Amino acid sequence: MGSTSTKGFSRRGSGSRNNVLVIAGHDPTGGAGVVADAQTISALGAHPVTLISAHTIQDTQGVNSYQPVPPELVVQQLETLKADMEFAAVKLGMLANKSLVEAIVPVIQSLNTPIVFDPVLASGAGDSLSDDGLVEVLCKVLLPQVKIVTPNLPELFCLTHMKAQEDDAAEKTPDQQKAAVRKLLEGGVEHVLLTGGHAKSKDVVNRLYPADKGYAWPRLEGEYHGSGCTLASAIAALLANGVSIEYAVEEAQEFTWQSLVGAYRISSGQSIPLRIRR
Ligand code: PLP
Repeated sequence: MGSTSTKGFSRRGSGSRNNVLVIAGHDPTGGAGVVADAQTISALGAHPVTLISAHTIQDTQGVNSYQPVPPELVVQQLETLKADMEFAAVKLGMLANKSLVEAIVPVIQSLNTPIVFDPVLASGAGDSLSDDGLVEVLCKVLLPQVKIVTPNLPELFCLTHMKAQEDDAAEKTPDQQKAAVRKLLEGGVEHVLLTGGHAKSKDVVNRLYPADKGYAWPRLEGEYHGSGCTLASAIAALLANGVSIEYAVEEAQEFTWQSLVGAYRISSGQSIPLRIRR
């Protein structure tokens, strides 16, 4: 099909993109959350379809509070979209409360498409983004459905200890980390990409399991907001475009690292990754 022109507008309708369903929080600064996800997914050639799980009150210095969106509203929107279109991948970020997880999981499961989960429980500065009981429901209901989960060290130990806060995660030995990852895999997750941003090593080393493959990236100076969102969304976009999990994980890390290299500031706080590079 070519383009048609109506009243001076040129309409092109011949292209198609693979849809990635995103359910995540809204960070109005655009550093993290659905804006970050939508930028990443668009930049990688897929189409983001975004549902907001919670509105956060935050600036580039930190998160003050958040307000979850009622689960019925999210499910109603999800069912409406499901009736209208197909999804090639799902990306889940901040889910904020357990009733939302319980409400969306059956619908998402019925989409029969790979789920990428960034287990957001707190902001980079440590402000809580989850309610009591969320972690337990995530482990029991969501994780068994997930293709790949992308925890950082504190998130890994929160998930395996079923608690919302984990202060000494950076002190855990490699054996303790491996045992925790094994627990997630035994719980039904297909792949775990453990991210190393919180470790004290010179390079940031991320590790994919069960492949047990490491990826080292030079640690960049400064503080960034939304690197985890960028990484998980990039994996989802690449999976939606049909590549293997190993390739998606590698390319998504490259995309994220380049976004951090090009990061820019909109105020005196944390930098925003540059995801749209044209
Ligand atoms: N999603 C939302 C809505 C957030 O507010 C945050 C952190 O504040 C995150 C996700 C996680 O951000 P990051 O990718 O920096 O861990």
